[in-house]
Amino acid sequence: MATSISFEFFPPKTDVGAEKLIVVHQELQQLNPQYFSVTYGAGGSTRERTLSTIDALHGQGAPVAPHLSCIGDDKARIAELLDIYKAKGINRLVALRGDLPSGQVGLGELPYATDLVRFIRDHSGDYFHVEVAAYPEMHPQASSFDQDIERFAEKVRAGANAAITQFFFNTDSYFYFVDRIKQLGIDAPIIPGIMPITNASNLIRFADSTGAEIPRWIRKQLAAYGDDSASIRAFGHEVVVKLCQRLIEGGAPALHFYTMNQTEPTRQLVKDLGLA
Ligand code: FAD
Repeated sequence: MATSISFEFFPPKTDVGAEKLIVVHQELQQLNPQYFSVTYGAGGSTRERTLSTIDALHGQGAPVAPHLSCIGDDKARIAELLDIYKAKGINRLVALRGDLPSGQVGLGELPYATDLVRFIRDHSGDYFHVEVAAYPEMHPQASSFDQDIERFAEKVRAGANAAITQFFFNTDSYFYFVDRIKQLGIDAPIIPGIMPITNASNLIRFADSTGAEIPRWIRKQLAAYGDDSASIRAFGHEVVVKLCQRLIEGGAPALHFYTMNQTEPTRQLVKDLGLA
């Protein structure tokens, strides 16, 4: 059976971006994904845009899965969103803590993703299929790998059904994380998050802000290509195809692509992996 795939979008900021996303969604829909997820700005900063993006995509093919973050937000506003999604017949969520926007200080009533998962279960029972975040290379704020793994296990025990990872390029970190989680008796699927490589400076910026590691050999090769974007894309494609192949061979249950609201290069990756 082919490994299943899912695609992540962020809510566009402009009308032009929203119109473009409709086209990207239709094109990626042809690849038969399990679902499309839409990110949510921490503290509710994209609440309306996430909702309108979800409205635009819901009912147009594969199910949609809104992300929902809890830091700096309050229970009443989160409960309201849960009720809105349920009323629309949306039954998947990606539940996150989020990162506080600069300047915002209060953690809110639900400071960690585990608190959010618990709240979702208390409020909506088993209605939602809930995915959470996982960090094979450790969350940047965790004090130790062991503690991060234990916190992750708590999040699943609180009621998460599965997890999507931060992007990574080192498959050993993923398989080690999965082994450690299994040793704790957790059998929730851990789905690798796949970041296509198209632009060196964007990739380095994402990696620096999320604590993901770009191996030296990839950094050096990207730097050597300079402004030659065609070579960067070709090299990036080869690296990510091999990464995905190793993950599939090693038993990854599915792949979740960070599309950056673009059809290519995700479509090419999925096709070359034979997953369409
Ligand atoms: P948590 O699971 O709460 O963990 C955060 C940190 O707190 C970790 O270091 C953990 O070890 C520690 N911790 C957990 N519980 C406790 C506790 N009880 N006491 C002390 N420490 C604890 N961000 C957004 O704002 N919007 C999005 O849509 C979004 N989508 C994402 C999708 C994916 C697949 C991933 C991987 C990340 C996404 N993020 C998103 C980013 C995410 O919000 C940040 O990485 C954030 O810093 C942590 O979120 P979390 O849900 O992993 O937090």
